[in-house]
Amino acid sequence: MQLKDIFASRAMRMKASEIRELLKLLDQPGILSFAGGIPDPNLFPAEAFAEAFQGALSGGQQAQSLQYSVSEGYLPLKEWIVGQMARMGVDCDPDNILITSGSQQGLDYLGKLFLSPGDTALVTAPTYLGALAAFNAYEPRYDQLNLSGNRTAQSYRDGAAQNGGAVKFAYLSADFANPTGETVGQADRERLLDLAEDLQCAIVEDGAYQDLRYDGDPVPPILALELAKKGTLDNCRTIYCGTFSKTLSPGLRVGWIVAARPVIAQMVLIKQAADLHSPTLNQMAVNTVARQQFDSHVEKVRAAYKARRDAMLRALKQHMPPGVDWTRPEGGMFIWITLPAGLDGAQLLARSLDSVKVAFVPGQAFFADGGGPNTIRLSYSVLDEAAIEEGIARLARLIAETLAE
Ligand code: PMP
Repeated sequence: MQLKDIFASRAMRMKASEIRELLKLLDQPGILSFAGGIPDPNLFPAEAFAEAFQGALSGGQQAQSLQYSVSEGYLPLKEWIVGQMARMGVDCDPDNILITSGSQQGLDYLGKLFLSPGDTALVTAPTYLGALAAFNAYEPRYDQLNLSGNRTAQSYRDGAAQNGGAVKFAYLSADFANPTGETVGQADRERLLDLAEDLQCAIVEDGAYQDLRYDGDPVPPILALELAKKGTLDNCRTIYCGTFSKTLSPGLRVGWIVAARPVIAQMVLIKQAADLHSPTLNQMAVNTVARQQFDSHVEKVRAAYKARRDAMLRALKQHMPPGVDWTRPEGGMFIWITLPAGLDGAQLLARSLDSVKVAFVPGQAFFADGGGPNTIRLSYSVLDEAAIEEGIARLARLIAETLAE
């Protein structure tokens, strides 16, 4: 008998994907990597954080910064977030906010809060891999959220009932999504609100990339659109997940959730049971740095990523053979490539690592139930413009060769 034989059934849903295993091989020297969706470490405001941590550890502050604190989160930081949310059209109170250890923890807690085994979560195809990983532990069924198609609420309801559960939420990253880079337009956001009303389910709006818009007009958050209709956040079914990971630092693990008070109250209980609270010191440092320079810092981050996105779009246009298609994101970190049918993203990656030394993520990893074999995700956040141009030229050469075989 092995202990793994007695793991709970939920552990069976937590398998490392083959693709994830493959990604471990990507950190080799000499590889040009478009794989990791991570911020450029050269852009971290390290000096400001050094000072902020120093401040939080001296002058009597250490009695608070090194101590246990409340599960809800550090109040001054929540007050700063209230101001940020107001700028996006979401008027809320600190009581509508829970500080989480990154938005990833928020996704896990929302899975824990809403999903009984067999319940349905609606996700786009493709969707954020980490959201599937978080929800999988709660043994849901997935159904495809398709806003532009003509599926009725009843068809979602019937599918969920056949599986012995109900549709509990629709999860989406509405701005510059991971992995496609695409943004959901306002009309589709309104349609989603109607659908959620009909299904009596929640909407989980993942705002991870919301601050990284490089051009085009901002679209109001789904939560802002709902709030404008309902007047009070406590009547809203949309739950907004925010993070400092893509703007200030992912390593500090500070994110937040904005939702109706009854949802936050229950999430606080979940957090108490799971980890008591997110690190006080990190929350204090993020609060200090955000108040000092959030806007000017994010401006710098945007300028750097915009130049890289432009470099990648230029290189794709110049080098890719006919039949290859790609998204043109207005922000974020990702471009999604659709290869001619018959090409396989995972096979192309194996070949690419062997020959042209360019890494990316095969798109199939981002589908809840397979699909998208001929897609790949490219991230432009880390390499400089020259490396992006070189990497795309190499990749395009390999694709052209593969197509010619
Ligand atoms: N949502 C999306 C769409 C992401 O891409 C990521 C990070 N890759 C996260 C959430 C989680 O980020 P964090 O936990 O660092 O806030």
